[in-house]
Amino acid sequence: MRIVSAHEGVIPISSPMSNAFIDFSTMDCSVLALVSDVIVEGRPLVGYGFNSNGRYSAGEILRRRILPRLLDAPPESLLDANHMLSPGKAWDVMMRNEKPGGHGERSVAVGVVDMALHDLAAKIAGVPLYRWISDHYGDGSPEDSVFVYAAGGYYAPGKTLQQLQDEMKAFLDAGYEVVKMKIGGASPAEDLRRIEAVIEVLDGDGSRLAVDVNGRFDLPTALEYGRALDPYNLFWYEEVGDPLDYGLNATLAEHYRNPIATGENLFSLPDARNLIRYGGLRPDRDYLQFDPALSYGLVEYCRIQDMLKQHGWSSRRCIPHGGHQFSLHIAAALKLGGNESYPGEFQPTGGFADDTVVSGSRVKLNDLPGIGFEGKANFYRVLRDLHR
Ligand SMILES: [Mg+2]
Repeated sequence: MRIVSAHEGVIPISSPMSNAFIDFSTMDCSVLALVSDVIVEGRPLVGYGFNSNGRYSAGEILRRRILPRLLDAPPESLLDANHMLSPGKAWDVMMRNEKPGGHGERSVAVGVVDMALHDLAAKIAGVPLYRWISDHYGDGSPEDSVFVYAAGGYYAPGKTLQQLQDEMKAFLDAGYEVVKMKIGGASPAEDLRRIEAVIEVLDGDGSRLAVDVNGRFDLPTALEYGRALDPYNLFWYEEVGDPLDYGLNATLAEHYRNPIATGENLFSLPDARNLIRYGGLRPDRDYLQFDPALSYGLVEYCRIQDMLKQHGWSSRRCIPHGGHQFSLHIAAALKLGGNESYPGEFQPTGGFADDTVVSGSRVKLNDLPGIGFEGKANFYRVLRDLHR
């Protein structure tokens, strides 16, 4: 088995919305097709990947370093002892001659290829990816559904409280029981009005609402908001300060009683380990949001899971960022706590297969081979056009 060609592209996933830190008017995304020499029903099997939602494309690194290494490697160096495609061995090839640290967009580029390699490996095996992951990295008994929450509640020009409430009602009508909104991009008084408006839609139950600061607050603001938020018993208070400010996080955890979530902008095992060592997070209540697509892929994510186990953390405390199908498979196979979902944002990459039904805030995995992008028509058209 060998990879015959790689086809990389960049697509816009722009939108008029913003969070507390950025707007999404120029957001884009790397997409990738890896064409193999394995022919099924007259066509080569192709693995697809993209770089999650919310970080920019990484085409330059893909084109100049990561893909040439993969394509120039002897084909057998990418195979395991059974002569099957090994994403783990491919990872070593892609990372040859890369210094440690300073992960930046490099981890995003490797994550795109890692996703495509896993898609391809599962297609060659003829099984959905969650089954492949469970057999290769898990305990062989994947779960058949995954908890999901609906992420939205962005700021947008002229957006009213009524519109925010309608957005959240639509999430509930679609089968979600937990929702998330952005905070930190308005005054505290305005944000509290927005929070109370959403809790009203949730029948007064703050434990079904997560709020996301996107790393905006300094320590005094983090603590001030924390004092105001604690009485609502929120689902979580997310990425409150700079993602790399573990001291801020530790101090917040001393004062804020309810769950904290963070980690979507930590892109490596060493960064994740520093968060666990120095971030003051509590394994009995807090959540970790590392996104495999942004952080060197599933090969590195498995290393992060091993590290968490050593530190006494359950995989159930992990609910990845990104709202993509790759993490949905990973969550089912590795028994994570769930996965993010973007029901309305980041098209065509955001969201799951077209026939996905959300019920009781859970989604079932479908049985298409690989990740199943073929079941998401708008996105599949984009991916297929890369190599046809
Ligand atoms: Mg977030």
